[in-house]
Order: sequence, then C-alpha cells, then structure tokens
Amino acid sequence: MSAIDLHARASATFAQKLAETQAVLTQAAQDYAPLTPGAAPRITLACSLGAEDMVLVHLVNSLQLNIGIFVLETGQLHPETLTLLERLKASSRAPVDVFTPVNEAVVQFVSREGKDAMYKSIALRKACCQIRKMEPLSRALAGKEAWITGLRREQSGARAEVPLIDRSEPRVKLNPLADWTWGDVWHYIANNQVDYNPLHDQFYPSIGCAPCTRAISLGEDFRAGRWWWEDEAAKECGLHVKSSPLPEKLSS
Ligand code: SF4
Repeated sequence: MSAIDLHARASATFAQKLAETQAVLTQAAQDYAPLTPGAAPRITLACSLGAEDMVLVHLVNSLQLNIGIFVLETGQLHPETLTLLERLKASSRAPVDVFTPVNEAVVQFVSREGKDAMYKSIALRKACCQIRKMEPLSRALAGKEAWITGLRREQSGARAEVPLIDRSEPRVKLNPLADWTWGDVWHYIANNQVDYNPLHDQFYPSIGCAPCTRAISLGEDFRAGRWWWEDEAAKECGLHVKSSPLPEKLSS
C-alpha cells in the first residue's frame, strides 16, 4: 500500500488552507522580489526533499513564482533521496541550488570521531549536524531576508506553536503549511501527481540522513524515526531551533 493510499485524506477546510498557502507564497514572492533586475530574490525555499517540501516546490513552480530552492546535500542522504534530487533538478522551473558540507571539515571529523560518531553522544551528533547541515545552511541563507519551510504544527510537540509567518528572528521565516494535516499533504500530492521520495511508501514519514532515520511502526509518533536513540527533547538538528549559535543569529 502506498503512502497516498494510506494517508491522502483532505481535512474539511483543505480548500481554504490551500488558498491561504498560495496567497502567502504569492505575497512573499512580491515582498522579497529582487531589488535590481537580474539579481536573486531575497527569499529562498528550504527543500529537504520530504513530502511537505515537495508540495511547496510544486506550488512555487505551478504559481510561477520568482523564488529559488535550496537543498542541503549532507553526504549522508539515502540513494532514494539522491535520485529524487536529480529528478527535481531536471524538472523544476525554479532554480535548485545544492549546498554540500566543507569536505575538509567532514574528513577531519570522521577521522577524529569515527563514521558512527552520531550514535556516541548527543554532542557528537550535533557536531555532525553542525558540519553537514548548519554551516551549509548559513551559506544557503546568506543575503536572504526570508526563507520558506515545510514545518507543520502537527509534526511534533516542539512544533505545535509554529506560526504561518514567524517574525521573531531577524530573518523572517514563512511556514505556509503550518496548519496542514499529514492527510492534506498527501491529498495535494495525489491530486497534483507530485513526485515524492519512495521511502514514504516504506513507512518513513520524516526523512533525513540515512544513519539517523528509520521507518516507524503503526501508532508511533511522526518523528519517532529521527534520532530514535535520543530523548524526545533533543530531536531537532538545529535548523529549526530558535537562537541557535549561528553566524548572523539565524533563525534555523
Ligand atoms: S542527521 Fe545524522 S548524519 Fe545527518 S548531519 Fe545530523 S548527525 Fe550527521
């Protein structure tokens, strides 16, 4: 049974939510349009290649918005995710920029701490995320005044308060799917034939790096398959933790 068969169930207010999401994205493209002809837009879409982000990419492309897309290729993604990335680069109307970690930093970290460092302690796991995700993220967001994410309130307790537009940090963060349900996401994917990661058909709702993601069982929490060996409280990589110690005090 596919993820579409399992999950595609629109909520009663789906049409209203979709209209609001389209309006937020359209307004954002206007608000953060390039200041001079030929310059890059001042907003970017963070695409993890998960279901929510593939919906946002589809919306940006179908609305023909001047919003670029970026992907963090950590060097630890599943083969299925890398194949989806190649399909995305080939099919997206909006440009897709891929950011990779600094190779020397990865080589030094792995030779010092080992390939499985992320399982040894939370500190080492976060150090790996810093090198492979956070530093590339700071480059992806450099010069941008706003960014778009696929965060949804339903995803975890830590995300229950996610606002549609978050102006609490210097860089504005837009979460146009904040009130979408998992059923809404899959309803949109089914209705619009959105390309998606086949790992979703193998009970991976939340997909990250291969060493740090596993399938979940029926009844398990949405993010139970991420860093499953850690306490719930530690389960964010830093991308969406407020006041993380990043350059420029990024909201990430
Ligand atoms: S999710 Fe795991 S493999 Fe990926 S950067 Fe973080 S610790 Fe490293």
